[in-house]
Amino acid sequence: VSDVHNAKTRSFNMSKIKSKNTKPELILRKAIHAKGLRYKLHDKSLPGRPDIVFPKFKAIIEIKGCFWHGHDCDYFKWPKTHSEFWKKKISSNIERDKKTLLRLQDLGWRTLTIWECTLKGKNKLPLPELTEYVESWLAEYHASTELDSKKIKRQPT
Ligand SMILES: [Zn+2]
Repeated sequence: VSDVHNAKTRSFNMSKIKSKNTKPELILRKAIHAKGLRYKLHDKSLPGRPDIVFPKFKAIIEIKGCFWHGHDCDYFKWPKTHSEFWKKKISSNIERDKKTLLRLQDLGWRTLTIWECTLKGKNKLPLPELTEYVESWLAEYHASTELDSKKIKRQPT
């Protein structure tokens, strides 16, 4: 029984991981677009098919789900059931994320990782503030960094 269940859970989870265009991401994209900033989506020619690519600014925004990518925040707790499966899954996501960011940065791209908890929930940043942050990060050519609901921190590279 558990094998069948695991297989089902797994394929469901995989489909969730691949799903793009989640709602908070759409809201952010719309706000950025309204500022006159133009981007490409899920560019297949770049490592990891980054979410939002700004060729003009040589910059990339990646939006990461706190659960799937193991963010250290209120939205992430290690699941108590199927814990081995989840540990493997999420740890490998974290590893892959790191590698992808480094590859992008090696290619000369700046990366801004925006965690889901910045976009929704009780600690989210108000949209105007977030948009303003993104706008200045792009236009002032700031270094690669991460943005989450608690702090703005630099990406250690
Ligand atoms: Zn988070």
